[in-house]
Amino acid sequence: MTRVVVLAGGVGGSRFCLGLRAALEGRVDAAAPASGFDIVVNTGDDLWLSGVRLQPDVDSIVYALAGVNDTERGWGRAGDSERVNSELQEWRAGWPWFTLGDLDLGTHLARTGWLREGSTPTQVIERMSARWPLGARLLPMTDAEVDTRVVLEDGRVMHFQEWWTRHRAALRPARFENPGIDAVVPAPGVLEALAAADLVLIAPSNPVVSIGPILAVPGIHDAVRSARGRVVGVSPIIGGRVVRGMADVCLSAIGVETSALAVAAHYGARSGGGLLDDWLIAEEDAASAADIARVGIRPVVTPLWMRDAATSAALAEAALQTAGH
Ligand code: GDP
Ligand code: CA
Repeated sequence: MTRVVVLAGGVGGSRFCLGLRAALEGRVDAAAPASGFDIVVNTGDDLWLSGVRLQPDVDSIVYALAGVNDTERGWGRAGDSERVNSELQEWRAGWPWFTLGDLDLGTHLARTGWLREGSTPTQVIERMSARWPLGARLLPMTDAEVDTRVVLEDGRVMHFQEWWTRHRAALRPARFENPGIDAVVPAPGVLEALAAADLVLIAPSNPVVSIGPILAVPGIHDAVRSARGRVVGVSPIIGGRVVRGMADVCLSAIGVETSALAVAAHYGARSGGGLLDDWLIAEEDAASAADIARVGIRPVVTPLWMRDAATSAALAEAALQTAGH
């Protein structure tokens, strides 16, 4: 039984987790029963809106693993409608540029109710996960509320979601912050899962605003660093470009070039105080393999585009095999 823990954000994270579930299920036999895996999810994107708690990255992963996600649009529930959203707009409640689907609102109402009744985010996610056979355990990075905020070059500060969704990342960011994160603790089970892991995977998620907040929760970076098994990362950069999204703006803001090499160096080599043993890069970036090796990280060239179930599973399979599993 191979115990796998994945650090993940929304879109890249959920596609990768779908692939990983398929790859792990593909190797099940009587001697090695299905183990499932743990996903430590970014909650920096979470916010309160119109009285309900939203957890965009958690929901992306839950919906994708449950098979109820809208694959065309890339977010929310398949076949959703927007009746309540129209009514909220008539009331001028919430954010006019942030659509909440009716089925999605059902999730948010259930979650908010349970939180109001005293459940922790971890308990709420556990309860939500019980509805569908997800094949994985989702753990929020922390039970505390630590929003990701963007400090703009002009000094304005806004919630990450407003910058990303309303302004399409077009306002120049000076930096990203998670106020109060230094004082929070990882959610129950996170450090234990990392300590018991045979393999830790860093999904091809946004390194700054998806993986960044997870690693900023005190204790998580060290727990990944001291994991027993290998730490394998998957580059979210293919051919020097981000795929599906605007992560390059986030990388530039923290002074990291949009390249597979620069992101690898940003995470750092485990041998040099960083996190990575291995880094999966695309054929298009093979020319930087020698430089990645020079940083102390083993580069592995493999197809990185997660176009469908098969390519996502093949990528996850490559990550497992890289670590000898
Ligand atoms: P978000 O929370 O919804 O922004 O999603 P994530 O942080 O999990 O993932 C966003 C990142 O996924 C982007 O920076 C993309 O570069 C990366 N990404 C999206 N699709 C793919 C893919 O097919 N392959 C790889 N390697 N990366 C991808
Ligand atoms: Ca996100």
